[in-house]
Amino acid sequence: MSDSPALSCDHQLNQLAFQRAVTGMAFLSADGFFIAVNSSFSRLVGSGPDELIGAHVDTLDSRSEPPLPSSGSDWLASYSLEKPSEKHIAGPGGTALWAEISLGEYEVASGQANAPVYLMQLQDITKRKRAQLAEASWRTSEQIYRAITEHCTDIISKHTLDGLFQYVSPSVRLLLGYEPEELTGTSIYDYFHPDDLCLLDTAVDELASYTSLKLPPYRMRHKDGSYVWMETHLNAIADASEPALELVCVSRDVTERKNMENQLRKTNELLQKISSIDSLTGVANRRGFDENYAKEWRHGLRFSTPLSLILLDIDYFKNFNDNCGHHEGDACLRQVAEALKRAAKRPGDLIARYGGEEFVVVLPITDERGAAYVAERLRQEVELLALPHPSSEVSAYVTVSLGHATMVPARDLSSRELLVRADQALYRAKQEGRNRSRAYRPG
Ligand code: GH3
Ligand code: MG
Ligand code: MG
Repeated sequence: MSDSPALSCDHQLNQLAFQRAVTGMAFLSADGFFIAVNSSFSRLVGSGPDELIGAHVDTLDSRSEPPLPSSGSDWLASYSLEKPSEKHIAGPGGTALWAEISLGEYEVASGQANAPVYLMQLQDITKRKRAQLAEASWRTSEQIYRAITEHCTDIISKHTLDGLFQYVSPSVRLLLGYEPEELTGTSIYDYFHPDDLCLLDTAVDELASYTSLKLPPYRMRHKDGSYVWMETHLNAIADASEPALELVCVSRDVTERKNMENQLRKTNELLQKISSIDSLTGVANRRGFDENYAKEWRHGLRFSTPLSLILLDIDYFKNFNDNCGHHEGDACLRQVAEALKRAAKRPGDLIARYGGEEFVVVLPITDERGAAYVAERLRQEVELLALPHPSSEVSAYVTVSLGHATMVPARDLSSRELLVRADQALYRAKQEGRNRSRAYRPG
């Protein structure tokens, strides 16, 4: 018996509605095989009706390696008849898509009995799903960053471009003694050591060219008024519209490192000093003299100022040692050095043990008259010690002979020449009777 015209028309309309529906639709047999698919379904999964009809629904999961069709109605276990399920299925050209799948069960007449068929409706929800996943991942990363920020021992802070605190992590309590809230809204400039403020100004200038930079160690004021050495990594946060909007800083307490560096520098300075000092008398040694003399020569050269040298030598000191013993000789050298210190005490003057019982005095910015004056004072100061010298041929006490010379350093002169001249003057003082000072005279 053929269908009535009304029924035939209904059937065609249903067919049309099924085929043209925007939603992907497919009919499945009770054991999960495709019976019919519409064009939206084919487009969404990227396979035509020829490929799909007769294929098992499990092929949606992975059509590159079709799984063995499950038997009976096992396939239904992975879908719900009550509410739509979300599935990540294979899409066109090897891509994957997120689909929302609803399944409805219907009875159709099949021969003598009614058999169930299933209408599967499929919607592409990839965009929505990606947005949800991005949101979830953003929330996770925000939680991660918050945990890092809250528990990190470094101080993490956010500032406006002009340095106001917008956020400070709780570690600021431990490192600087402030509550995070009391810093919010205040300016970083208020906590910097005044001598280190220039570092901030430099950083602000550099931020015009760099988005991230490291501030060299600087001092931040602790709530108790002391200063803590800090080191900061600074990042300018920008977006497409503006070059820099705010600053995110990670700051670390480097006080311990800084203290160790200071200690090391002091030890080095001390070592340097020790290595330039004569251990017997405490005045500069030959090395100390060489360094100081070279420096004063350069100074004189630059400013064309006179430089004077006095060389002095204890008279008949060999006899002193022979008579009184080496130990007494050493004590005498120490006392002579002390007397010299009393006589040449202008800040730039330097007394050095030149060797044995000879001393040298460097007198910067001193002309010949000045040098003669100091030399005489040195001689008198030693005489005033009144150290008995039984075997001296010039006095009952320890005396010294002195030679002095003065030059204005110039490019065509050698610093050695001034020493030679002072030595020649000393020789003359010895020659002319000892216990006296003589100026250098050419010829
Ligand atoms: P002059 O008046 O010509 O300078 O005679 P002098 O005996 O002082 O000179 P000379 O150069 O002949 O002897 C220097 C002596 O200085 C030799 C040495 O016994 C003594 N002397 C040098 N260095 C030291 C020292 O570190 N300690 C002691 N105790 N004596 C020293
Ligand atoms: Mg000598
Ligand atoms: Mg001598």
